Amino acid sequence: MSVQVVAAKMAEVELKDVPTGKDLPAGSPMTPTSEGKNLARNDPHEAGSSAAASPTAEPSAKAGEASLGLLTPNPAKMPQASAMKRTDPQQNGGEAFVNRDGTVAEAPRMKKIQFADQKQEFNKRPSKIGRRSLSRSISQSSTDSYSSAASYTDSSDDETSPRDKQQKNSKGNGDFCIKNIKQADFGRREIEIAEQEMPALMALRKRAQGEKPLAGAKVVGCTHITAQTAVLMETLSALGAQCRWAACNIYSTQNEVAAALAEGGFSVFAWKGESEDDFWWCIDRCVNVEGWQPNMILDDGGDLTHWIYKKYPNMFKKIKGIVEESVTGVHRLYQLSKAGKLCVPAMNVNDSVTKQKFDNLYCCRESILDGLKRTTDVMFGGKQVVVCGYGEVGKGCCAALKAMGSIVYVTEIDPICALQACMDGFRLVKLNEVIRQVDIVITCTGNKNVVVREYLDRMKNGCIVCNMGHSNTEIDVASLRTPELTWERVRSQVDHVIWPDGKRIVLLAEGRLLNLSCSTVPTFVLSITATTQALALIELYNAPEGRYKQDVYLLPKKMDEYVASLHLPTFDAHLTELTDEQAKYLGLNKNGPFKPNYYRY
Ligand code: NAD
Repeated sequence: MSVQVVAAKMAEVELKDVPTGKDLPAGSPMTPTSEGKNLARNDPHEAGSSAAASPTAEPSAKAGEASLGLLTPNPAKMPQASAMKRTDPQQNGGEAFVNRDGTVAEAPRMKKIQFADQKQEFNKRPSKIGRRSLSRSISQSSTDSYSSAASYTDSSDDETSPRDKQQKNSKGNGDFCIKNIKQADFGRREIEIAEQEMPALMALRKRAQGEKPLAGAKVVGCTHITAQTAVLMETLSALGAQCRWAACNIYSTQNEVAAALAEGGFSVFAWKGESEDDFWWCIDRCVNVEGWQPNMILDDGGDLTHWIYKKYPNMFKKIKGIVEESVTGVHRLYQLSKAGKLCVPAMNVNDSVTKQKFDNLYCCRESILDGLKRTTDVMFGGKQVVVCGYGEVGKGCCAALKAMGSIVYVTEIDPICALQACMDGFRLVKLNEVIRQVDIVITCTGNKNVVVREYLDRMKNGCIVCNMGHSNTEIDVASLRTPELTWERVRSQVDHVIWPDGKRIVLLAEGRLLNLSCSTVPTFVLSITATTQALALIELYNAPEGRYKQDVYLLPKKMDEYVASLHLPTFDAHLTELTDEQAKYLGLNKNGPFKPNYYRY
């Protein structure tokens, strides 16, 4: 069956239960639009403007058509996207992992793992103690680390390295390497809980019952191995793919989830607290296997892609595409593309509109309160809070705090955002005007030195200081490391910095992202991401030869809209359909895309 036929059939299924109720004209040709520019450039944060400014680089055929048999057979090509993800490759040190019971397990300071180009052998194994110290001194690969991704099971009682264990699942399959297969039942429950908040993937599974758009796909993945990822992997499997998976972060694996996946027949190579050597060994075990060669890559951070480039470049002959999730990985792909070294098409799912919106605004709106509460037990009602920056993240923080009865001030440099803050009912101030009186200071500007020592000196006793922005540059934490100030670690991720006169401020996560360091990220947010990943895989896998060149592409806007539509039934939301007359009046296709690329939402 041709891809187009599959696509058309999927679209038919689609029509029955997509909440949008949109007509998806199966098989109709794609209308070329000004959307759909692929972005061969270096700065992922400039995606939007770059897309608008470079209308030349387009996929040569009907981008999105095949995959969007699920979605629509004629999507526009590459929409613009912009903004950034919540990570900081350089600065993401010392996260804590929050256990389900609310206790916080502090992780070692993390730096980025350097690519292990020279490492060919994995036999030189460090001793137990050596391994442990290694895993504390080295760092993680992708720094897109969700703290909620930490394993809920304490693995410290079992010091045996998974690499030294021979384990088999109940069916006798031993093609995996995880901490403890006996935790599978517990992991299964975690996965089932995650499924409740990942409606789009569950819907995709349903639709794939008949057609399997990933039949024949051999997906090698390197992402956080969490309950949410498990839902994604099991969805890919339901869509027909075979998967082998490693962790993109040495601390974020939920051991029990890895166990459940292994029990379910997935070849998973990951455990919480891998050493750097383990990390690369696991990746290698995913790709270096007899009788199995991947044809799709799903990466988060670019380490897997890099490994294949360095060690098994011939594999790219069979690989149809790369789907990359993180800012860091996307950046690397753009670099490869710019250097003319990218040898397969790649999808940047990081910059899709829905993902950005959910990551920045809605996620922060919820997790700011979670992060503050877990670390300080603060009461929000009546507290005076200043939020620096009124972009997406700032808007989320302000909305949440206002709803809790806090008195919220905003600082801004941009008159448009400043006016928005005013219209939303916040007092726009300069930081020095309120710094003496506020109880909580939150930075979310993406800038540096927003809160400097001068301000820290003037804060009142007990003031809580934290950052929700990209990196730990926003608060000048280094300026607090002077002899006259005393630091007291009062809780994991909570420091009291004490002045000679006894005044103390409460510094959270040493100025790193509060929510990623000290709270969990809502599964629903991860659902959006996982759905875009699945759709991007389907699109690249089914795209006919030549549709995508060896370049980095953004998801078609229609896919973004589709991702959103798949999440609507959760809310029993009823979307209005354009009439023919209305569609004509607005100059829109009734099935979308509904907005131009420059639309800001
Ligand atoms: P944004 O660009 O929409 O907003 C930042 C705002 O800060 C802008 O309006 C800008 O004018 C303002 N600003 C810049 N310098 C300032 C200064 N000195 N004083 C006051 N305001 C200033 O970006 P965003 O999407 O809101 O993201 C903000 C930061 O949060 C980024 O670093 C981003 O990477 C990060 N982020 C964090 C999370 C998270 O989960 N914590 C999620 C997404 C993004």
